[in-house]
Amino acid sequence: MSNPRPLHPIKQKLTPLGQLDECIRQTLERGGPDKQSALIYLELRHLHPGHYRDHLLECLTSRLLPLLRPADHIFQLDSHSVGLLLGQLNGTSHALLAAHRAKTLLHDVSSDELKLYPQIGIAMAPEHGRDGEALIDAAKIAAHQFAEEHIGVYDPDRDWLGQQLVRLEQPLRNALYDNRFHLAFQPQIAPASGAVSGVEVLLRWEDELLGSISPYEIISVADYLGLMDQLTHWVIQTGLRNFSQLRLAGYQGTLSINLAPNNLRDPHLAGFIGNAMAVWGIPAELVTFEITESAVIEEFELSLKHLQQIKQMGCKLALDDFGTGYSSLAYLKRLPIDELKIDRSFVMQLAESAEDRAIVESVITLAHRLQLMVTGEGVEQAAELALLQQYGCDQIQGYYYSRPLKLADLLTFLAKPR
Ligand code: C2E
Ligand code: CA
Ligand code: CA
Repeated sequence: MSNPRPLHPIKQKLTPLGQLDECIRQTLERGGPDKQSALIYLELRHLHPGHYRDHLLECLTSRLLPLLRPADHIFQLDSHSVGLLLGQLNGTSHALLAAHRAKTLLHDVSSDELKLYPQIGIAMAPEHGRDGEALIDAAKIAAHQFAEEHIGVYDPDRDWLGQQLVRLEQPLRNALYDNRFHLAFQPQIAPASGAVSGVEVLLRWEDELLGSISPYEIISVADYLGLMDQLTHWVIQTGLRNFSQLRLAGYQGTLSINLAPNNLRDPHLAGFIGNAMAVWGIPAELVTFEITESAVIEEFELSLKHLQQIKQMGCKLALDDFGTGYSSLAYLKRLPIDELKIDRSFVMQLAESAEDRAIVESVITLAHRLQLMVTGEGVEQAAELALLQQYGCDQIQGYYYSRPLKLADLLTFLAKPR
């Protein structure tokens, strides 16, 4: 019988990935309470499968070997990244030193050798995690987030989006592909008559494993992944389809749809809206698109052009969350808006704060002077409603009247006598 083929010398130096958790446990134990361990993640991006990729990865691994002390390990994490597990460190600075040495080993080479420029991320154990999965995730996030600096140390404070990406990217892509989002509808009430004058469409996602994911999380991740236009198209298409059902059931009010900042850069948005309204037979003047001030601050002219296209089709525009963020009165003049939505942060203090009462009353007066309709958002208390009504607020939205509802529950809500 022939002997088994000897392992490639580099492969012999690699610790099998399956042992990562155990190795982390051992290094932490050996180090005791005063020492830390680090996972240094090195990724060669944009590599295509094949010999060349394998060769580069082997090259990377072999040049890193001089860094390792007897109790350290090197793992191949996937087809384009390796991880170093270093124990007995005196803190993050120690790990950074090692990462800088790794960087030097990889590109300070003689002219006939290949220079390698991996992205490098560092996660510390136990601070950022105690097992392989947590540490790899954190180090990977650091490598991507600090891409320009080539070496990044995981920073939980800077990392909200990174964590959401790791958690939500694949489920979100699947949900979009499989149509697993749905919409909620929050009634907007004309306070004088109590009639439902409008409904706002709000995105919802109930994942089997992850539970319910807030629209803020969905939108942040979708935006980062470049999926915001696709997601908004789904909201518009589904929202208008449901709106046509509501109208068939006798509903005569309006429908409001939120747009995200990046939607305003989409040259196809107005065309898409026009088509969808034609498909569902919706009169344009019954549909309002809500935007925020921050959405138009960057690339103002381009956003304005697209908003004007939407206006020209006959749809309405609302300025959402008014009073938060940059809130410049200049936008009231420069944007072709029809409605102003006063943010909940003003509404919730109305009863207690004389300043907020002064602001809200003046804003409503000013808006009316500019021929804008005013909606008060997040109204929960009768006292808030009474004050807004006294100031002439045209529309009220908030838990006081109703939470966002499923379509069927909205139909029940609409059927109730008022
Ligand atoms: P928003 O556009 O300001 O929507 C109003 C938010 O306030 C909704 O939160 C609603 O559930 C909540 N709300 C309504 N009344 C009350 C109240 O009386 N008290 C309190 N505490 N909250 C109230 P939701 O559905 O979680 O949405 C959060 C934000 O996510 C929205 O704020 C909007 O900016 C964004 N969003 C939601 N759906 C979409 C969407 O389809 N597209 C885009 N681009 N953004 C969306
Ligand atoms: Ca809104
Ligand atoms: Ca709002």
